[in-house]
Amino acid sequence: MSRIDTRCLCGAIHLRIHHQPLAQFYCHCDDCQAVHGASYVGIAVFPSDAVEVIRGAPISWTYKTLPRQRCSSCGTLLIARVPDSELTGVKANLLPPGMFTPAFHIHCQFAVLPVVDDLPHYSSLPGVFGGTDDVVAW
Ligand SMILES: [Zn+2]
Ligand SMILES: [Zn+2]
Repeated sequence: MSRIDTRCLCGAIHLRIHHQPLAQFYCHCDDCQAVHGASYVGIAVFPSDAVEVIRGAPISWTYKTLPRQRCSSCGTLLIARVPDSELTGVKANLLPPGMFTPAFHIHCQFAVLPVVDDLPHYSSLPGVFGGTDDVVAW
């Protein structure tokens, strides 16, 4: 099994991930825009029990419904434990170089601007995630 070791910018928090990503995508939702101060973010999803904090104590807070964890020193956003699921989202920039290979975009209805590439651009979520499979016309 692969192992990913990563850390926040200042090194106070170390994460260890014992799994390959289950899904990788760009999220354009307005929550991500607000929390990350970005137009959209890259996210890799892993089984929650495979994502372990092995050093430091991230602070947790919940914006609307999604609990997110960040480093209290440098502010790096680290992970979001999805409620009522066994899934944890990890910020793509924390992955080793070359590992983030997004397969689609989600919540494009909230996008600040179109991001034109060859990936599917779901208006909300793909059907396998409980969405409608509708795509936007970018
Ligand atoms: Zn830090
Ligand atoms: Zn989002």
